[in-house]
Amino acid sequence: MLIKNLVVGNLATNCYIVTDESTMKCAVIDPGSDSNEILGYIEENGLHPEAILITHGHFDHVTAVPAVREETGAPVYINEKDAYTGGRFDHARFQADENTRYYADGDKVQVGGLTFEVIETPGHSRGSVTLKCENVLFTGDTLFRDSVGRTDLEGGDMRELLRSILRLYDLEGDYEVYPGHMEASSLERERRFNYYMTYADREFRGQ
Ligand SMILES: [Zn+2]
Repeated sequence: MLIKNLVVGNLATNCYIVTDESTMKCAVIDPGSDSNEILGYIEENGLHPEAILITHGHFDHVTAVPAVREETGAPVYINEKDAYTGGRFDHARFQADENTRYYADGDKVQVGGLTFEVIETPGHSRGSVTLKCENVLFTGDTLFRDSVGRTDLEGGDMRELLRSILRLYDLEGDYEVYPGHMEASSLERERRFNYYMTYADREFRGQ
C-alpha cells in the first residue's frame, strides 16, 4: 500500500491517494480541492482510480469530487447522513445524485488488493466515518494528532465524538493514523497522549 498525501485547498485538507501497488488501482480519499493536482498525480503515476471515498460531507473534503469523478469515472462513496440531494447549496453536506453510493458501519470497499472497512464515527458531523485499511486508519476530522475535530457545526456533538474515538481506542493493536488535517500519528500515541482520548476513557469507563 502506497499512501500519497496531497494538502489541498484553503483549509489545508489532507487528500490521500491510496494505491495497491500490485494492481496500480487506487482510492482517492477526500478530494477537497485542487482537482488538477490530484488528477496530475494519478496520471503521472499511471494509476487506476477505483473509488472516491469521503470521510464526511464538509465542503473542504468534497469540493473536487465532481471533477475527479468526471475525469476518472470512479464511484463516489459517502455515509448517507452527510449527503443531500437537490435543493439549496449546503457547505456541510455532499450533494449526492443517483450515482452516489452510500456506505455504513461495517461496509467494505475493495480497491485492487486493498479492503477499506467503514467505521461510523459521528460527532464532528452526523455522517463522519473512519476508513480502516490494513494497519491504517483514515480518520477524517474525527481524530487528529493530539486533538479531535470541532463539534460546534451543524450535526456536531461532543459526547458522540468522544464515544466515537473510544471505538477507535478499542481497536486491537496499533494503527497508523492519517487524519483530515495536519500531521499523521499512530493510534497508540493518541491513546497515550491525546487529551480527548484519555478524557473519554475516564469519562465513559471511570478509569
Ligand atoms: Zn470537517
